[in-house]
Amino acid sequence: MNAQASNGNRDNGSDVDVVVVGAGFAGLYALHRLRKDGYSVRVFEGAPEVGGVWYWNRYPGARCDVESVDYSYSFDDELQQEWNWTEKYATQAEILSYIKHVADRFDLRKDITFSTRVTDAELDEQTLRWQVTTDSGESVSARFLILAVGPLSNANVPNIPGLASFAGTTLHTSQWPHTPVDFTGQRVGVIGTGSSGIQAIPEIAKQADQLYVFQRTPNYSVPAGNVPLSDEDRAAQKANYAERRRLSMLSGGGSPHMAHPKSALDVPPEEREAAYQKRWELGGVLFSKTFPDQMVTEGANATAREFWEKKVRAVIDDPEVAELLVPKDHAIGTKRICTDSNYFQTYNRDNVELVNLRATPIEKIDETGIVVEGGKHYDIDTLVLATGFDAMTGSVAKMNIVGRDGVTLNDKWAAGPQTYLGLGTDGFPNMFNIAGPGAPSVLANMVLHSELHVDWIADAAKYLDEQGAVAIEATPDAVENWGEELRTRADGTLMPTANSWYVGANIPGRPRVFMPFVGGFGVYGEIIADVAQAGYKGFALLPS
Ligand code: NAP
Repeated sequence: MNAQASNGNRDNGSDVDVVVVGAGFAGLYALHRLRKDGYSVRVFEGAPEVGGVWYWNRYPGARCDVESVDYSYSFDDELQQEWNWTEKYATQAEILSYIKHVADRFDLRKDITFSTRVTDAELDEQTLRWQVTTDSGESVSARFLILAVGPLSNANVPNIPGLASFAGTTLHTSQWPHTPVDFTGQRVGVIGTGSSGIQAIPEIAKQADQLYVFQRTPNYSVPAGNVPLSDEDRAAQKANYAERRRLSMLSGGGSPHMAHPKSALDVPPEEREAAYQKRWELGGVLFSKTFPDQMVTEGANATAREFWEKKVRAVIDDPEVAELLVPKDHAIGTKRICTDSNYFQTYNRDNVELVNLRATPIEKIDETGIVVEGGKHYDIDTLVLATGFDAMTGSVAKMNIVGRDGVTLNDKWAAGPQTYLGLGTDGFPNMFNIAGPGAPSVLANMVLHSELHVDWIADAAKYLDEQGAVAIEATPDAVENWGEELRTRADGTLMPTANSWYVGANIPGRPRVFMPFVGGFGVYGEIIADVAQAGYKGFALLPS
């Protein structure tokens, strides 16, 4: 035990060095790293199993849109050498089995309390410790509070009149049953055409008798280009893992793929076409990072959109349906690009009908289906809500976190999240938020992002102990300046122009603030490393 200022007691577990909320990728690594560093750690997890979003989002077709070889832990070379991914883009089931393997391999479960949610965390200003309370009534005192709840984990259930009166089955993609759902012989309605809907729709269409897709806003989606990985593929990836990880840490999005070195507008058309074609074949979200200026100027963005539109219109049989499926209200990539397997082709099927909610909005749901404006009734047996999340802050906001002077985090963030580096907030010493607002967050590979954050926090904790300090707290000036930095960077891009969940536009009443750091994962990593190097500049070190 080297944590000088800690007073953890592993025996009763009610007085520990660290409480971590959440046992997804971030929480599990936080437990592993901080425990290895000698701290006593308790993790609370609402689910009965590890995995976070990968435990809950088990709708048909659920897959990651980052390559499996990259969307995996880098902290242990033996782990990355021994694990064999079967496909280029892993399914939810495979990712979950990987996470379970990690939990077992590093003996993590013994410090996790499952099926238990943290409801409250209150700062004791005398001791600077956090008193954490759970929904099972347990109360734990901790020096450090780490929020690893995920930016996309609080389901958005839309407020549609009559929703509760529907007599059939209602499912939300992010709260999918753990027993198989069989759509055979059914009439199914899906509301929502974001990443989740776009992955689920082709799979549901294969089974259902009739599928109605209720679309409010069409989205850009790029084929996953998923393929099985051969032994040779895996061997080549593993032989090159160190370099792959090095490049990922320097990259814009946490994967080892660099944008074309020139502007989209400065290259001849054939070169531009070839660059887009290469990214198209790579598949997934990186299409929006083909050229460095693609998310910066409308002209460059239009070249990407034109390439995309040509590809997509070519696979949709009915031009009128194609017209409805092509987005016209936002630049490509300003909402997260979706990743699909035969999504647009699904509308060529006889049993699939696209309902354009822009022309006929949903009026209500009744016992037997959905009624749209004008009175048309769609009879359905099962309703699938692919309506997304109260993103970025939703799961943090569910906890009553009380900092200095009785100010809650929800009060502090009422006009939008306020952080320094996305990690800390003034008034909330020793509380850290992982991969949330103020950090690259959802714009980066969340596994490497979680590692980056946890390693930074663990190093900061060690530094505190070396300095004889008990706590670290962002200064109000640092928080204000970081907010300005985030705004300036975002405003220099097209990103805030869309009504996306990045700006909270999907949840009525939320303040419109672009929440992630857009400057790139590698740049962000350098910034937080420099802060640490400079003695945690912008943070106050508080003596015991
Ligand atoms: P989302 O992108 O927020 O999409 C929600 C969809 O529901 C939108 O089409 C939205 O329409 C619609 N909607 C919401 N409320 C509605 C209402 N009252 N009436 C009609 N339509 C309504 O949510 P998501 O698809 O779950 O994806 C969220 C994020 O999770 C993704 O962007 C991605 O970052 C992550 N994700 C990743 C993967 C992957 O790795 N492949 C898979 C799934 C999710 P409007 O656009 O008009 O609001």
